[in-house]
Amino acid sequence: MCTKHIEMVEVSPRDGLQNEKAQIATADKLALISRAIDAGARRIEVASFVNPRAVPQMADAEAVCAGLPHRDDVTYIGLVMNLRGADRAIATGRIDQLGAVAVASDGLGVANQGQTSEESVQVSKDIIASGIAAGKSAQVTIAAAFGCPYDGEVPEERVVAMARSLSEAGPVEIGLADTIGVANPAHVARLVTAVGAAIAPIPVRVHFHNTRGTGLANVWAAVEAGASAVDASIGGLGGCPFAPGAAGNVATEDVVYMLKRAGIGTGLDLIALIETNHWLAGVMDRKLPAMVAQAPLFPKVA
Ligand code: ZN
Repeated sequence: MCTKHIEMVEVSPRDGLQNEKAQIATADKLALISRAIDAGARRIEVASFVNPRAVPQMADAEAVCAGLPHRDDVTYIGLVMNLRGADRAIATGRIDQLGAVAVASDGLGVANQGQTSEESVQVSKDIIASGIAAGKSAQVTIAAAFGCPYDGEVPEERVVAMARSLSEAGPVEIGLADTIGVANPAHVARLVTAVGAAIAPIPVRVHFHNTRGTGLANVWAAVEAGASAVDASIGGLGGCPFAPGAAGNVATEDVVYMLKRAGIGTGLDLIALIETNHWLAGVMDRKLPAMVAQAPLFPKVA
């Protein structure tokens, strides 16, 4: 009936874990990545290559990369904020795709990566160029695209102009991130439509945090507006160390349940995701925010 397909990008090993105070063992990160692959994940953000003093949870980025399963059918993404990070990611020999971050506001840009919004656009273009020169693909996410914890409202025209400028560098995709979970579906529909038109044929990916409970509604609005890929985190873990009040990413299993029931394919296995949620809750020693894994299975035989 419906042949639509949405590509899921699993961000739990990076965005999901980066805000956790207790250091997660490298072996547990690798187990999470293997379980995600077994559940059908084919694009995974495995680490960020940032200063370990700023984000201690990512200090083992190289060790994680060294332990990644060798899979030709899986794209491993390394998040980088500057050329030094890009060099580190490329030097691992295991990162297939660089993920750059341009920030739509000066407040979060300076707090998160020591760059004004304009500087972050230029650095992101340089990162994309260095990735392409090294034979990798590269994409970029516009952080705080729907609002900034420091500067407040972010004009939509500014995000569209940033996307247009970033598209000149040749990214395989441009992401729109609601870093602090303030977006609403109407805003999402407008921005995905406007950015999509500005960068076509480059596809739009979306990244939502469920801080105020609008995460799933925003995913739906984005899919309806033509976004082709969705970032999500198993268990709904997540947060940003430099964005006060940021809560978890939309949960992979919740997004997959919603899309599947609506007739939209993701290639992910819901039962395997729920099992991974329960395993991860054991590792983290707490119940995770995702909802589907806490509810009875419906229909009973998935
Ligand atoms: Zn995020």
